[in-house]
Amino acid sequence: MKYLLPVLVLICMACNPNTTPTETDTEAASVAGEVMATDTIPPSRPVLAKEDTTVFGMPPYEYLTGKFDPGQHPDFVKVAARYTDGDPYLLHRETYAAFEKMHAAAMADGVQLIMVSATRNFQRQRQIWEAKWKGQRLLEGKEKADEVYPDPADRARAILRYSSMPGTSRHHWGTDIDLNALTNEFFDAGKGKEVYDWLVAHAHEYGFCQPYTPKGADRPSGYEEERWHWSYLPLATQLTDFAASALKDEDISGFEGAEAAPQIGVINNYVLGINPDCKE
Ligand SMILES: [Zn+2]
Repeated sequence: MKYLLPVLVLICMACNPNTTPTETDTEAASVAGEVMATDTIPPSRPVLAKEDTTVFGMPPYEYLTGKFDPGQHPDFVKVAARYTDGDPYLLHRETYAAFEKMHAAAMADGVQLIMVSATRNFQRQRQIWEAKWKGQRLLEGKEKADEVYPDPADRARAILRYSSMPGTSRHHWGTDIDLNALTNEFFDAGKGKEVYDWLVAHAHEYGFCQPYTPKGADRPSGYEEERWHWSYLPLATQLTDFAASALKDEDISGFEGAEAAPQIGVINNYVLGINPDCKE
């Protein structure tokens, strides 16, 4: 399929020389890493294949670990303020296109989805992580995590209940968003419950899935439940597969506490420890 699409485009362009570039053209350019300016959304799949040596024009390791500036990446777009809590956010343009459709459908049902986080790159995640690691930021309501958890693996597991280790966050990928509020309790009643019930019923129609469901037999390891975190599967599933084959615990580096990554098996237990429904 991957090789068939450019051929089809060429045939199409040959039959009509006045044809403007198709959506497939822009996608091919994007995968090749060429800079382009377009609002068109390529609908075809897959965009990535196992044999690819790049991910959206970048070395897989750099893309998967968020070691790039999404503001400079040609596939990332700004999220309009009307969808957000007021902070500036960026998403992969395909995730954004799907979110806009989902947002409109929710609004038609009287439910307002509000984006409260989107892409966070390695540097941003490193700031959050290191503040907790060094005890400068409260961890589970407690100060001085460095003294409460002197063992690196214990401290890492405590931080990882709700914060990703730099280099391992799905928020690096431009595929994942946080909606409305960052507590599970918000979604228990009232407006929050309406939002969550709507997402459970309809998010999959737009490609979104909740990766961090309650832990149990189906999901024995990973982050605690996050009812606010939704992942755009048409891209994220491919990136998860890429992470499974391309990322090793020892590659997770460049921040304080990175020595804990192999000790806790961060790739298998956290990156791949998601709701099985989000793996398809
Ligand atoms: Zn999140």
